[in-house]
Amino acid sequence: MPYYNICPHCGSHLDPGERCDCQDKGQESERQEAADKKKEVKSA
Ligand SMILES: [Zn+2]
Repeated sequence: MPYYNICPHCGSHLDPGERCDCQDKGQESERQEAADKKKEVKSA
């Protein structure tokens, strides 16, 4: 019984239920895009 999960993408040890950073990267990019969009609207 493992005390941690292993990221199938990079092999990092993660706590049970925790997501690896390599998976958050994509989400962050999306978030940044949304922020940029908001900025544009605010600017205009
Ligand atoms: Zn990973």
